[in-house]
Amino acid sequence: MPESLYQPISFIKCHFKKSLMATLTFETLTFRPNGTAVGVDLLQGFTTSIPQEELEQIGKFDFPTAHTITFPSLPQEKAETKFSFLLEKYFDTLKTKITGNKATYVHKNSGLPLIGNVAFGIVYRNSSIIEIKPATSCNLDCVYCSISEGLSSTKNDFIVEKDYLVEELKTLIDFVAEPVEVHIGVQGEPFLYTDIENLFADLEELPAVHTVSIDTNGTLLNRERIDRLSRFSKLQLNLSLDAIDEGTAKIMAGTKSYNVNHIKDVIASAAAKMPRSPIVAPVLTSGYNEQELEKIILFIKSLPRQPILGIQNFLQYKTGRTPSQELPWKDFYALLEQLEQKHEIKLKLGKNDFNVKETKELPRPFREGEVVRATIKSIDRFPRSVIAVAQNRTISVPNCEFRKDKKITVKIVRDKHNVFVGKVAWP
Ligand code: SF4
Repeated sequence: MPESLYQPISFIKCHFKKSLMATLTFETLTFRPNGTAVGVDLLQGFTTSIPQEELEQIGKFDFPTAHTITFPSLPQEKAETKFSFLLEKYFDTLKTKITGNKATYVHKNSGLPLIGNVAFGIVYRNSSIIEIKPATSCNLDCVYCSISEGLSSTKNDFIVEKDYLVEELKTLIDFVAEPVEVHIGVQGEPFLYTDIENLFADLEELPAVHTVSIDTNGTLLNRERIDRLSRFSKLQLNLSLDAIDEGTAKIMAGTKSYNVNHIKDVIASAAAKMPRSPIVAPVLTSGYNEQELEKIILFIKSLPRQPILGIQNFLQYKTGRTPSQELPWKDFYALLEQLEQKHEIKLKLGKNDFNVKETKELPRPFREGEVVRATIKSIDRFPRSVIAVAQNRTISVPNCEFRKDKKITVKIVRDKHNVFVGKVAWP
């Protein structure tokens, strides 16, 4: 799109020819006309709907392909400006398809910085592992989920424009000035983000990034996709596998549709074909899968190229589900030791296995206790909580009514690692 044009939503990737007819083609949008309205899907997983009559007010229109809208009687610039306004209006009612939850699209012109929130964007904890979070939402409902994500979630979701994320990440990497791992650890299932392979391709090109790791439940992978992913030499898949027994696996995943045999096939395929050996990460959850651990070990050992097995202990979190009690750490490590000896396999993974290094601190523009004037830009994950913006950071503000672009004064109550929480000091 020419720079001179008004561009309220930056995901627009128009490819147009000079002609009398305005033609707008979008890589990330899919149009579904249905008579009285036009469904607009963003990256397949998120959707909104524009009333037909509002589109008609722009001018006569047509959809020659699922990604293209034409306005035969309008000049290009006028069509782009008017359609962008309409999209911006209806992206305020964006929803996540699998849950129907509200969703916020975070793009270059959204006014939402990518540092400040744990759910989306970039989290930098002064270490050589930088976390990036392109989207939230999940297609499972695991009993132990530490963030209560999944099919039963009612939280607001976020989806981040890929180019915006990569651009901001590059700026941070330049600041860190050391080799880094980029960890895609989202609040949800990252392969629901349909730009994910383009994201891998961009990250693969960054010389300072030595590893791109990703936590996935594996449900959206298959042999063909693993074949495609195997071209990414830096990609490290961390796959969940909590049980071998089909019934136990379904109970733990929180959905009857979960098929553990499919996941085993994905793990076998990833172990055989990915340049980097995958990590398989069961969560030991008392009362659910103690009896499954040995079966998982035997499955892993049966593979010709053995993945790394990293058994995790279920931990209770304030925002997570509580299916059972935590196992005391000494009992957990005693169990791992016993299994290590019996099966001659390494199970205890430590910091040294992940090559983590302390790196320089990113300046925090404000500190705990400071009072800051900020502008409300979005609802946050939880009901009655908003995201306010100041000095290129987001601040989560609970117990605050959402009124877009309203200025509020907040007292910062958390500032660790540039993740900010504030309390309304006065409205
Ligand atoms: S796959 Fe991960 S994000 Fe999804 S419900 Fe399970 S633990 Fe939570």
